[in-house]
Amino acid sequence: MERMKTREVAIGTKKIGGNNPILIQSMCNTFTSDADATVRQILALEEAGCDIIRVAVPDEQAADALGSIKSRIHIPLVADIHFDHRLAIRSIENGADKIRINPGNIGGEKALEAVVEAAAAKGIPIRVGVNSGSLEKKYLEAYGGRVTAQGLVESALEKAELIAAMGYDRLVISIKSSNVALCIRAHELIRNRTDIPLHVGITEAGTLKEGSIKSAAGLGAILSRGIGDTVRVSLTGDVLEEVRTAQLILRSLGLMEGGIEMVSCPTCGRTSIDLVRLADQVYELIHQPEYRHLNIRVACMGCVVNGPGEAREADLGICGGRGEGLIIRKGQIVKKVREELLLSAFKEELDGFKTL
Ligand code: SF4
Repeated sequence: MERMKTREVAIGTKKIGGNNPILIQSMCNTFTSDADATVRQILALEEAGCDIIRVAVPDEQAADALGSIKSRIHIPLVADIHFDHRLAIRSIENGADKIRINPGNIGGEKALEAVVEAAAAKGIPIRVGVNSGSLEKKYLEAYGGRVTAQGLVESALEKAELIAAMGYDRLVISIKSSNVALCIRAHELIRNRTDIPLHVGITEAGTLKEGSIKSAAGLGAILSRGIGDTVRVSLTGDVLEEVRTAQLILRSLGLMEGGIEMVSCPTCGRTSIDLVRLADQVYELIHQPEYRHLNIRVACMGCVVNGPGEAREADLGICGGRGEGLIIRKGQIVKKVREELLLSAFKEELDGFKTL
């Protein structure tokens, strides 16, 4: 489906909307006031391919740490503020490249006006973030006393219009829900209602497995409808997995180039090596930062039934046998090694791709 037409919005050194690529975001789970720990986490996220990073600003110490954090990282820094508009203004003064607020809980129209003025003075965008968990009463009551896709959309558009009426249009909208079907519906509804870029994601999606599945289902449906300018996968767990999962989703949908795609067989009664362990080790290996710039497909297959075929399709593959296995590179068998040497033989070949 044709991509939704949105206006271009700059966030620090990056741009979203228009014809720009869909960028990946994550959010730190360190205390922002602990600048050193936050910077460490952001640098690791940068290495993993995160394009934009958001941090929570729950107090003045966090707002005051932003300058120090920003000076030591290389990707745009977004400040996430609730309830206290003074923290938003302080974050802007301290160099935030964008702020995320829910105008419905920031302290009223006067407070919102002050935040918009501060953002306009620095020219930084504001994300209007509406979540199903904090939808205002008015939009619950208007649609049967419960959270609905219509309620999320109307709430977000009303806030965006309010800010636009204050004379500021550098906006991004997010309408998130932990209910996947509702979230998809909300994005279908907003598609033809605005040209403001959309930050998309399934909020509070869950732990690594559940959250990844819900995010893949939700973002898969939303993005394949041509909707979305920047994505965040939210997982209860390691933030690096958020970036990896987002990359896998974008790559699976053909929306992103780069990175290593892995295929592996589910194993069956023909598998005669410990393929589950080997596949986990290969997964960890290919996600090391040193391989980040590769754009290849690898296969980890259990036996000769589908193994050689998949491995041939891949740039680099392992095909298991009985206590041994083949390393196949670009369709050619390059090595036959004992099971315990498969990983190191695979790594050796993988390293060869780095210099191509
Ligand atoms: Fe089974 Fe071989 Fe298929 Fe793996 S590749 S699932 S081991 S038949």
